[in-house]
Amino acid sequence: MCGIVGYIGQKDAYDVVLKGLQRLEYRGYDSAGIALYDGNQLNICKTKGKVSDLNTKCIADNVRKGKIGIGHTRWATHGEPNDVNSHPHVSNSGRLAIIHNGIIENYDAIKKVLENRGYTFHSDTDTEVLVNLIEEVMMSDDHKLGKAVQIALNQAVGAYAIAVFDREKPNEIVVARLGSPLAIGVGDNEFFIASDASPFIEYTKSAIYLEDGEMGVIRLGREPRIRKIHNDKLIDPYIHELKISLDQIEKSGYEHFMLKEIYEQPEAIKDTFRGRMLADKGVIRMAGVDDHLEKFLNADRIIIAACGTSWHAGLVAEYIFEDISRIPVEVEYASEFRYRNPVIGPNDVMIAISQSGETADTMAAIKLAKENGAFVFGVCNVVGSSISRETDAGAYTHAGPEIGVASTKAFTTQITVLSLMALKLGKAKGTISNSDFHLYLNEMESIPDKIEKALQENDHILNVAEFMKNSKNSLYLGRGYNFPVALEGALKLKEISYIHAEGYPAAEMKHGPIALIDEEMPVVVIATRKGHYEKVVSNIQEIKSRKGKIIALVTEGDDTVKNIADHVIEVPETFEAFTPLLTTIPLQLLSYHIAVMLGKNVDQPRNLAKSVTVE
Ligand code: GLU
Repeated sequence: MCGIVGYIGQKDAYDVVLKGLQRLEYRGYDSAGIALYDGNQLNICKTKGKVSDLNTKCIADNVRKGKIGIGHTRWATHGEPNDVNSHPHVSNSGRLAIIHNGIIENYDAIKKVLENRGYTFHSDTDTEVLVNLIEEVMMSDDHKLGKAVQIALNQAVGAYAIAVFDREKPNEIVVARLGSPLAIGVGDNEFFIASDASPFIEYTKSAIYLEDGEMGVIRLGREPRIRKIHNDKLIDPYIHELKISLDQIEKSGYEHFMLKEIYEQPEAIKDTFRGRMLADKGVIRMAGVDDHLEKFLNADRIIIAACGTSWHAGLVAEYIFEDISRIPVEVEYASEFRYRNPVIGPNDVMIAISQSGETADTMAAIKLAKENGAFVFGVCNVVGSSISRETDAGAYTHAGPEIGVASTKAFTTQITVLSLMALKLGKAKGTISNSDFHLYLNEMESIPDKIEKALQENDHILNVAEFMKNSKNSLYLGRGYNFPVALEGALKLKEISYIHAEGYPAAEMKHGPIALIDEEMPVVVIATRKGHYEKVVSNIQEIKSRKGKIIALVTEGDDTVKNIADHVIEVPETFEAFTPLLTTIPLQLLSYHIAVMLGKNVDQPRNLAKSVTVE
């Protein structure tokens, strides 16, 4: 979690770092801080709260001068979010400043050793321990900063992306990563450091992505020197040419990133199938699948490992893989799977899903599957992310940067990629006829237009949001392909409006949740015409009989449910397997409008962070 930014060059570091922190604020936002060397001394400015609060404080304290600086927006793991625990942390001598994304697991043992040597600590963080360990190594053996960082990290256990500089040598920044992302922007006699490329995209398109276990000494006037932390091996850095543009990471006139990203879904889905699905020719090309087709066709089963919204996309995929390609699927929470001693073998295929491609638990599940001989396929959005590098093959969702913490377009594009895979495998296995395959492809091609149509319900959804916004609890029900959508709809509401919401398979309602239903309880029911429609209508009647308030998602032109429900929201008709791509849309808008009406911070909900890079 957390975002880190650094700069060294001819510009004012404050401006670059502060703007960079604003771009990375989606990664963590409980406190923020900045360290600058102004030519004379090291100045630190940090505070609990947002990057905007940091700016106010730095202006008041007049901490803005310097051509070298590092900044951090925190998602606390060790110590509550307060001013003292905010990063950067400074070593006891006052020479070194550090920012850190991750967790140093053995910090307590190191701290005791350092305390015995006279070090004192002001914060509760693991990070302050690390910067003092680096200082201890540097001072006791007269090592340069780079060497001291390397020796200290070889004693540290855990995950990190760090940037450190020494006020006595203000022409270099030392960086390192293990388990948390770190990119170096290479400019014209200037360098940028960041958790992803968004902070430096307007200054340079050249970036080096550190690999796990690598560190770099970034000094003005020469190429960054990258080496392996554990064996000192020098690495020839590969410079990536970035393709993202500035407007992709800005709000483009929308009030929130989340709303922008909801509206981007038709285009995002087109980008997902562009070049892969040729509906007129009846072809799906996916290099990651084509090159390993036998692995999929001979698989005993597919294990899908994911967390949060990606896990819900995995549940939708379970239906479509089993339905169309007749391959058994198990969907696993990566965080449970990794610690469960699961039975995995060489005939298993794992599909790991993660928007950021950095999710720590999913990474661990991948490692476990690989150790046991399984073939691992990644479905990620962020190009060059750790998961995309760690897996045997994969497919990017090509959704474009997703900044809103509550995932929207990542979900629908994940479902799109997984649906294409299921169709492709079904065709290869002969579990779907040629004519049906063509019908599915044509229907998939029409999905972006159908999403446009679903988005046109926005004004009506505003009324539904008004109707629901004061509820304390809510239920979301769906069956079949729309059961995972019910889970996802409930998650969206919880995440951004803080209203308690539970997603359930509609038929399970009778086994418990029905006890909660009274006139105070809104129940959102997905009742599209395909897929157990009559059964769901009966479930709606059962809710009505207990005075629950019903908001139903129905297929265009449905009259039956209209007569029973308090509100209906229409979505266009589509194949059952593709209904999640449409029914998700109104549920995203509903959560969004409720959260806005309640005055919540939609893009940065409390306690959350965009990519969960800690366990
Ligand atoms: N473990 C560090 C802390 O709690 C860094 C957390 C982060 O990644 O933001 O301060």
